[in-house]
Amino acid sequence: MNYDSALVVFSGGQDSTTCLFWAKKHFKRVYALSFIYGQKHELEVELAKKIACEAGVEWDVMDVSFISQLSTGCSLTDTSLEIEAEKAEGDAFPSTFVPGRNLFFLSIAAVRARELGIRHLVTGVSQTDFSGYPDCRDSFVKSLNVTLNLAMDEQFVIHTPLMWIDKAQTWGLADELGVLELVRTQTLTCYNGIPGDGCGHCPACKLRREGLEKYLASK
Ligand code: ZN
Repeated sequence: MNYDSALVVFSGGQDSTTCLFWAKKHFKRVYALSFIYGQKHELEVELAKKIACEAGVEWDVMDVSFISQLSTGCSLTDTSLEIEAEKAEGDAFPSTFVPGRNLFFLSIAAVRARELGIRHLVTGVSQTDFSGYPDCRDSFVKSLNVTLNLAMDEQFVIHTPLMWIDKAQTWGLADELGVLELVRTQTLTCYNGIPGDGCGHCPACKLRREGLEKYLASK
């Protein structure tokens, strides 16, 4: 096992890009893994590749499109659905919820990491995120960490640098890492597939902009 390497689950969005540079600061060798899971905006993957290249880290992509075929009703993968603003009244989850997404991503990432002799995994999930996705919670990540170790008889450590911080603090972390401009202009968070500042009105853009404004005001 190589103790100075980390594998980052990398989408090319604000959160995982911040985590990529966090990993670069803390580990000698960083490997970024992106996933194609049937998301509407495959530009996401192109941008992820570009950012990883600019960051000087190894990058790979895996096609796990079967995830979107397992369940219906997610507006990120179903082209017939509009992406709604947050969750509708009475619904358990927002329309952007892809059941099991992080379970699959982290499990696949762990197997890949094992192949590469890497035991540190990094993911940009956050419990303070507005979405309330259950597989972004700390309890889930800790539970899966134990399960992965038992499943492969390994000692993986899943790092979640953003777990307890909000969007404004995530911008602060990017600034601290010297990549605020890169994150602001090159990442894709927008549900309508527009990089950088995005469309400006979808829930992801709103959250991102409000966080940036809050951070800049606090500087
Ligand atoms: Zn948007």
